[in-house]
Amino acid sequence: MKFSAIIVAGGRGERAGGEIPKQYRALAGKPVIAWSVEALKAAGVAEIVAVCAPEHAELCRGATAGSATIVEGGETRTASVRAGLAALSTDSEAILIHDAARPGLDVEMVGALVRALERVAAVAPALAVPDTLRRADAAGRITEDVAREGLMRIQTPQAFRADVLRAAYGALAADASVTDDIAVVRANGSDAQLIAGDAKLMKITYPEDFAMLERMLGGERVVCVGNGVDAHRFGEGEFVTLCGVQIPHNRGLVGHSDADAGWHALVDAILGALGEGDIGAHFPPSDPQWKGADSERFLRHAAKLAANAGARIAHVDVTLLCERPKIGPHREAMRARTAEVLGIPLSRVSVKATTTERMGFLGREEGLAAQATATVERPA
Ligand code: MG
Repeated sequence: MKFSAIIVAGGRGERAGGEIPKQYRALAGKPVIAWSVEALKAAGVAEIVAVCAPEHAELCRGATAGSATIVEGGETRTASVRAGLAALSTDSEAILIHDAARPGLDVEMVGALVRALERVAAVAPALAVPDTLRRADAAGRITEDVAREGLMRIQTPQAFRADVLRAAYGALAADASVTDDIAVVRANGSDAQLIAGDAKLMKITYPEDFAMLERMLGGERVVCVGNGVDAHRFGEGEFVTLCGVQIPHNRGLVGHSDADAGWHALVDAILGALGEGDIGAHFPPSDPQWKGADSERFLRHAAKLAANAGARIAHVDVTLLCERPKIGPHREAMRARTAEVLGIPLSRVSVKATTTERMGFLGREEGLAAQATATVERPA
């Protein structure tokens, strides 16, 4: 059966972290959306239309590498599917509609869906619900038990006989917004069938889903360790800022930004593990906008670069070198701030301190130094 596909890639969602939408980020060596494009092509698709947000058209074009017609979507998923249907130029007997954020599509699934259309007009992959279900209120109090028998989690692609799908969208109210396409054909009186879904067709929703899918899709990951060093001179002031924590002191630290040597060393360590240059390249001291800047911005930037690369920060370790102020009383607060900004558990953050036994520039209290390592797991 000749089939075409619409990939809905309109999401701007930020829940999965990173600066660019999840469907365009790298997963095991290629953009998330490219996994589905390649599976569809390998299965013999006649035409692919990718529907994206207008501001992401170039990203979408790059990620689909000439294999899909790029169409700008609407305000809702329903409007985007309508735009995709209008853009299909091939006269196929079947149309598959797929979410770009489900990269675990394979040739076997495409084949099973298209074959099922010989018997039914609409079909979708689905998985049973293994967990016990409860309804709860906003405060987390259970309000109702829900029987799970017969409940199914619906995945995509959803596959349709083209005439049935077009008729159903034609009959749908212009301003209607529905969450999936099976609902549209059912509303127009067609039956829909479910076939066995696939765990790896999970939808990428949270940052940790990238690492999970990478393992499922067999992508190779490597562990990289970066290190960073920084020092700042003492000057006038009544406090120093180290690892995001202000510590009262009879002197301050001199620097273009807030002179947080601990976090500067840590940012360089993360950038080192990612192969992304150094802090000066990302935030040039010559740029007036970083004058007096809170170093939290630099650390958040490093964490975002890691998320964009599909990387996971496994562990960080910061060592502060100074005679004074005493770091011990503030160590736990520094760990907590660092863990919070990086979005990783406290158990994966270490902050330590040492002196140099009054030797050298640190011993003479001319300044303060820090070194850091970051252990990062990322796609090979
Ligand atoms: Mg610095």
